[in-house]
Amino acid sequence: MASRPLPVLPAFPDAAKQALADTQLRRNLGKATTTIRAKRANVVGELADWEALRTAGAAIKADVMRHLDSYLLQLGDAVTRAGGVMHWARNAHEANAIVAELVSGAGADRAVKVKSLTTDEIGLNAALAEAGITAVETDLAELIIQLAGERSSHILVPAIHKNRSEIRDLFRRTIAKDQDLSDDPKALAGAARAYLRQQFLSAKVAISGANFAVADTGTICVLESEGNGRMCLTLPQTLITIMGIEKVIPTFTDLEVFLQLLPRSSTGERMNPYTSLWTGVTPGDGPQSFHLVLLDNGRTQVLADDVGRQTLHCIRCSACLNICPVYARTGGHAYGSVYPGPIGAILTPQLLGLDRAKTLPYASTLCGACYEVCPVQINIPEVLLHLRGQTIQHTHALDPEALVMRRLAAIFASPQRYERLQRWGRRGQRFFVHDGAIDRLPGMLSGWTNARDLMPMPQRTFREWWRQRRSGGAQ
Ligand code: SF4
Repeated sequence: MASRPLPVLPAFPDAAKQALADTQLRRNLGKATTTIRAKRANVVGELADWEALRTAGAAIKADVMRHLDSYLLQLGDAVTRAGGVMHWARNAHEANAIVAELVSGAGADRAVKVKSLTTDEIGLNAALAEAGITAVETDLAELIIQLAGERSSHILVPAIHKNRSEIRDLFRRTIAKDQDLSDDPKALAGAARAYLRQQFLSAKVAISGANFAVADTGTICVLESEGNGRMCLTLPQTLITIMGIEKVIPTFTDLEVFLQLLPRSSTGERMNPYTSLWTGVTPGDGPQSFHLVLLDNGRTQVLADDVGRQTLHCIRCSACLNICPVYARTGGHAYGSVYPGPIGAILTPQLLGLDRAKTLPYASTLCGACYEVCPVQINIPEVLLHLRGQTIQHTHALDPEALVMRRLAAIFASPQRYERLQRWGRRGQRFFVHDGAIDRLPGMLSGWTNARDLMPMPQRTFREWWRQRRSGGAQ
């Protein structure tokens, strides 16, 4: 299998502009994110110890990152002891090759899939297709995206950008061709169920991701809402799980923390409908062949960065997406990667490299709402600023913005220069003040006045007033 080049992401401002022009998309997103936000706030508000839970989650993850090497070896030993087979993949190419070989080795040319961002990250479906293997998504929203030939636009609700009449039209073109299907959610779910049932019952191989993997027992944990995951994890004879190395947790007891944090933060439920846990293989019960593929794909380079490392704490709940004012307007496609929203703005540039995704750290207002809701206390604004700093360091010395910023830094470093600039500004602004406001600035400054007016600089600054007051002349 040939290795595929890493994707070059489109600039976020250009992609966002396109998304903002789609009014249907903005309506769908606004409705969905508002509903999920309200549900989350309700169930989080029920827990008096929510902040303590967040702190515990963050502490467990920080410990995992400090000792990741030993936890991974412990996990590998436990999985092997329980009858599973371990595989280690340094990158997407290696992981895809391992999975393709395992599916073919099981005598199958088709595999059912549990929703998994990690497999999306490595482009598994396309790689399997090249090897002659069909991957069938079984999560309803993932199925919709797959049938539409689109990319997911939300971590938890991949088809958040589609409304039900769009889905009905899609089903009529694909899995329910001769049916008189309405856009009633029950009818749509029924059509998907009938199609998927055949897939579950005839599949020899299933592929899943993992929410957590317990190092001391080798237990893998998957949370889901529809029961499709449970079908995939129990019916086929071979089960292949692909997991980023950061998903390991030390002990079974740690699940107690994350199983409270994750459903409340993601779907706004006290508990998700299906939590599947399995340890290796059990003779006569469920898959008789289990493979765990541990994926690096840039994670160790994230781990090496003291500030960026906290990004690996993420449990993919999507709370930061739903609260983000930027995501709520642009949707996920504008981020150009499988990880959208605030988490995507910090994870993607670190996984792919800033040269491929240098505009993503700017896809934020730095309002801090993402940090406030994050169940594992990832300080997303801190990482965004850290990445912006790295971007600037690599900017060409003659870049106009970099030149302006360097000049401003020199001005702000000296009170005399700063006050001189204020005096010049006061004199120069009279050309732009109309009816008591600056309503249009020229050239690269126009961004400040495109959507709002600026207040003019006052005729006397605070410092001038203070000096006059001290000298006895102030009013
Ligand atoms: S960064 Fe935090 S809030 Fe965002 S998806 Fe990850 S765990 Fe959830």
